[in-house]
Parts: sequence; structure tokens; C-alpha cells
Amino acid sequence: AERFVIFDVPIDKVNMKQAVDTVEKFLSEDRLHMVATPNAEIVMMAQKDPEYKEILNKTDLNVPDGSGVIFASKIYKEELPERVAGFDLMMELIKVASAKKYKIYLLGAKSDVVKAAYLNLKRQYSEIDIVGFHDGYFSKDDEDEIIHDINEKNTDLLFVALGAPKQEKWIYENRNKLKAKVAIGVGGSFDVIAG
Ligand code: UDP
Repeated sequence: AERFVIFDVPIDKVNMKQAVDTVEKFLSEDRLHMVATPNAEIVMMAQKDPEYKEILNKTDLNVPDGSGVIFASKIYKEELPERVAGFDLMMELIKVASAKKYKIYLLGAKSDVVKAAYLNLKRQYSEIDIVGFHDGYFSKDDEDEIIHDINEKNTDLLFVALGAPKQEKWIYENRNKLKAKVAIGVGGSFDVIAG
């Protein structure tokens, strides 16, 4: 798909439906796909953090998450179709995953928060297949065990809520170990779902 590049950060010209379709295509392919949701704040962070910028150039899909990037795209006459907020994309993917029985794993947030998010999702989507969850306050030493858990449970869709840029860096660092089909950074979304 076409991309709008702003300050060296590419953003895909996708609306919500196209973003969901793209992720579904990723789920049918047997390798890890990285998804990010750049907004103006993330684009600015990347200016001061070359590693983050490089990672955002290596993801498989960057959705336009925020009015700032939409506004900028209009100025450059490279219009991004609509805002695709990370939280909204997560909820759309939850619906698709529930209907199609994709295996979901939740990684991030405080331990009571991710647990509450898990329970709320189970309550709201009776068909959902959440194979595991883990809080986001782990040490380097715990990482192999967490990744082993994600892989052993045949995770298709991994939601990583460690905040930006930590979540994208974590996914990128572990891209060769993770056997999930899609890993997406979703910021504070688990806190919202936990209520
Ligand atoms: N978080 C985490 N581990 C960390 C730092 C943050 O799991 O080491 C979680 C935090 O509990 C919260 C989320 O990451 O659930 C960050 O949310 P925030 O709204 O700050 O992120 P943003 O959406 O701004 O990227």
C-alpha cells in the first residue's frame, strides 16, 4: 500500500477496514509481522531516537494514529484516509479474532490491570481465545520464559502494552524469537479495557 513519510517515519495510507484486512493477511502468513501506531508524539520521539526511527521503518504496518499526522498529510497533499487509533484497532482485531478463533496473548500493564483486561474481554466476547497474559513489569531474566509461554501457546496475535517506544523496541529486539504472527504495540489500551 502507499505510504506517507513524515520526518522519515512512514505511515500507511489505510483506513480502519484496510488496516484490519492487512492484519488478517499477516495472520495467514507464517512469520512475525510488526505493527505500530504512529501519532505526532511518536514521530517527534523518533527524531531524537535514531534507533526508534529505524524500527518504525522496519515494521510491516504503521497505522495513522492521531489527528496530527492526518493534518500533516493534508498539508503535504498526501492524504491519509482516516485516523486509526491503536485502541480502536485493537478492539476491531479482538472482534475478528473472536469470530475466527485466532489465539490472543496480552503482554503489558500492571499485573492487576492485565488480569482485569483479560477478564473483561472474556466477559464481553464469549468466543474469544486468550491463551495467556503477563504484566509488563518484568526483568531481562524473565524474558525467555515469557517468550516461551507466548510461543508454546501458539499465539497468533500478540498485544504489547508497554508504552511507546518501549513496546516497539521490545517487539523488534525479540522479533527472531517470537513465533506469533502479529505483534502490535497498543500503549495504554489494557488500562482502558480494565476500566
Ligand atoms: N507499562 C508497562 N511496563 C513498563 C512501562 C509501562 O507495562 O515498563 C505499561 C503501563 O502500565 C501502561 C502502558 O504501559 O499500561 C503505557 O501506557 P501509556 O498510556 O503511558 O502509553 P502510550 O499510550 O502513551 O504509549
